[in-house]
Amino acid sequence: MKQKKIIIAIDGYSSCGKSTLAKQLAKELNYAYIDSGAMYRGIALYFLEHNLDMNNHDLLIDALQHISLSFDTANGKNDLLLNGVNVEAKIRTPQIANLVSPIATIAEVREKAVHQQQEMGKLKGIVMDGRDIGTTVFPDAELKIFMTASIAVRAKRRFLEMQQKNTPQNLVEVEANLIQRDHIDSNREISPLRQAADAILLDNSDITAEEQLQLALGWAHEKKVW
Ligand code: C5P
Repeated sequence: MKQKKIIIAIDGYSSCGKSTLAKQLAKELNYAYIDSGAMYRGIALYFLEHNLDMNNHDLLIDALQHISLSFDTANGKNDLLLNGVNVEAKIRTPQIANLVSPIATIAEVREKAVHQQQEMGKLKGIVMDGRDIGTTVFPDAELKIFMTASIAVRAKRRFLEMQQKNTPQNLVEVEANLIQRDHIDSNREISPLRQAADAILLDNSDITAEEQLQLALGWAHEKKVW
């Protein structure tokens, strides 16, 4: 029997390994992968590079019309393009990590990102990770996973990742940024970070990336995906 392509929505707290799982799932299922957080980071980068006053929401909203976001997926990459320029490295800095969550509370910023994300999901066969994918972007996604892990595990993972990227940050600062982003993301008015009622909770504090992939693949196959 021919099976159908579905939408897989992965949400959760900062630095839970959402993108690791999403990328692996997309590869296994031959689906597209979209990192929705990269889009918010790209918008934050544009505001920063244009020296816009982050407290002047009218100015920020007006600037949105000059921002075009896309992804370069050639050769297995998933790099964000901001107005056609690859900004993948620039959006992963501590400075952007500190700026992005307040910017992601702005209604017009979210409207722009969500609209584009919904367009990208029209053909299904997509794994998207973020904070509001199962609740707002794709409320009808066939498979929703909500990821969590202890703050100590998450901070350590992000700390090691930053070290590997040769942009070391101290562990206390990394943990403080994660806690702050989770707080802003969970308490904002529009599309706060929430586990959708029909999402499967995945706590990966004590399991490996391979174990979590096998779990998620099992859930995907229950939905009869290709
Ligand atoms: O996923 P990542 O950590 O790169 O996301 C950066 C920030 O973008 C999050 O902390 C959150 O404030 C925002 N975001 C969001 N909604 C999404 C994805 C990310 O508000 N769907």
